[in-house]
Amino acid sequence: MCGIVGYIGTKKASPILINGLIRLEYRGYDSAGISTIEKDGLSIMKDKGRVNNLYNLPGIDDLEGTIGIAHTRWATHGKPSKENSHPHMDNSKAFSVVHNGIIENYNELKKFLTDNGYTFYSQTDTEVIPNLIHYYYEKDNTNDDNKFLKAVKNACLDLKGSFALEVICKDFPENMIVVRKDSPLVIGKGNGENYVSSDIPAILSFTKDFYLLNDLEFVILSKNDAKFYDKDLNMIEKETKTIEWNASSAEKDGFEDFMLKEIYEQPTAIRETIGSKLNENSKCEFDELNFTKEYLNSINKIYIIACGTAMHAGLVAKNVMEKLCKIQTEVDIASEFRYREPLVDKNTLSIFISQSGETADTIAALKLCKEKGAKTIAISNVIGSSITREAHYSIYTHAGPEIAVASTKAYTSQVVLLTLLAIYFAEILGNSKDIIENLKKDILDLPKKVDETLKDSEIIKNFAKKVYQEHDIFFLGRGIDETVARESALKLKEISYIHADSYPAGELKHGPIALIEKDITVIGIMTDPKLVDKTVSNIQEVISRGAKTLIVTNQKIDSKMFDLVIKIPETNAFISPILSVIPLQLFAYYISKEKGLDVDKPRNLAKSVTVE
Ligand code: GLU
Repeated sequence: MCGIVGYIGTKKASPILINGLIRLEYRGYDSAGISTIEKDGLSIMKDKGRVNNLYNLPGIDDLEGTIGIAHTRWATHGKPSKENSHPHMDNSKAFSVVHNGIIENYNELKKFLTDNGYTFYSQTDTEVIPNLIHYYYEKDNTNDDNKFLKAVKNACLDLKGSFALEVICKDFPENMIVVRKDSPLVIGKGNGENYVSSDIPAILSFTKDFYLLNDLEFVILSKNDAKFYDKDLNMIEKETKTIEWNASSAEKDGFEDFMLKEIYEQPTAIRETIGSKLNENSKCEFDELNFTKEYLNSINKIYIIACGTAMHAGLVAKNVMEKLCKIQTEVDIASEFRYREPLVDKNTLSIFISQSGETADTIAALKLCKEKGAKTIAISNVIGSSITREAHYSIYTHAGPEIAVASTKAYTSQVVLLTLLAIYFAEILGNSKDIIENLKKDILDLPKKVDETLKDSEIIKNFAKKVYQEHDIFFLGRGIDETVARESALKLKEISYIHADSYPAGELKHGPIALIEKDITVIGIMTDPKLVDKTVSNIQEVISRGAKTLIVTNQKIDSKMFDLVIKIPETNAFISPILSVIPLQLFAYYISKEKGLDVDKPRNLAKSVTVE
């Protein structure tokens, strides 16, 4: 995971690097550090903990270098500590490196380097990289201009695993070398300066023109230029891509936290995701796809594969895919799917969801499906992200940058996009015409209804004040509401550290009811008219055992039975999860605030999980 920033230009690099790290801190916050090239050689300043700690390091304001690299860490190998912080140097202090990813063969490389006289000062996998670069650099007797590049290339070809790297060298003070393999990295093109970052939003205020890198493409950056090479060091041409997001979308805009801002951005995110795909009176259109009735009839199964919240969006979509398209739809967790020899063949359509488009397990699952001959569709929020470059087809949510670690607007946008996709398939197949007609109207009404749902925030805040000290909270629902229970429990766990669990309400008496005792909080979600009475009965069972209850519903129920009932607007059952999850996003948010926690950067987590 981790965040990487780089700068090369004419300005002092250190403030730009620290500013970029602050924007990337959601990717990891175990330690932070920067390395610049100063008049007397390479400088490294780093420390354990948050990026802000860098401001307190003696001498940080005196750095004059106009080229530098920076890192905010999410530790994989070696505890969070100063010596394990990046950047790391080689023994001779000629090279400085930051790394995002995992070097799987670092033990083997460490042994090789130790046998060749190198000493290691950290427990990280990363420290082998600068030393291996040095090893190849020293072995090269030539003195040509590409000596630095050749050494980095040779070292990278020895690395197994994933890496995004920035390397600077004291002998080449005008250059920085950048490369990636299975970890994200973009280059921002400025005027007389160039930027590097793990993601686009962190450097949007400097440039909108980006170079996107493929695996094992090497870049030599100078202040006026970016030269690209393939893994055999042949020069390659690259065009920039202009990104339309505006810089203020990566700011808090007066909200206390990114998460709250992003919850309130959901009407816009949904409207933008619908875009021109849907009109009440015409067929749903995906210009990016060119599917035929013949192809869709040949599909034996749809697989939706993702991790975490994105997987929950898949669970919601299973229902609409199966009902509208009449195609069996399975949802799987990417990290499990890839290791269990799934039954996938050329008649399988596989759909992969990743907000960042960089989720390592999801990308690996996609590659596996491709190998087995399946067609692949990537759903991402980031144009040009790795997953979209691997898939046969890519479609996008247009939620804008999502900075808070806990996903909100990306999730609801994913559900919208998947529902549109189901409509697109069903219309080609000529299925479910009546249902689709109403569903389309309800989707177009969604932004307005999300706005209405957001108006209940004060009531939810007050309820959160009553229960924030609890240790366990349970979420119950049936059918489509059970998927919302899962997502809501995950959201609460992520940002409040309260143990939360979700169950299909009917399963309660098969075990979990043993956990219910006086004053425990149980949250029920009820939006399906066919199932509401059944869920009410299950909630009644927990009330009889002393539970406090919060209900989210769009149905007519007897409010007096419960401690709090949040009424949400009525909508089509297929998309009710988009409305019912919103009060529970707010619930998780306000509990976290009551507990005084860092909502946007919960402990141990990082936004995009780019390692296995
Ligand atoms: N594996 C490296 C470490 O643990 C990099 C982790 C990261 O991507 O932040 O230091």
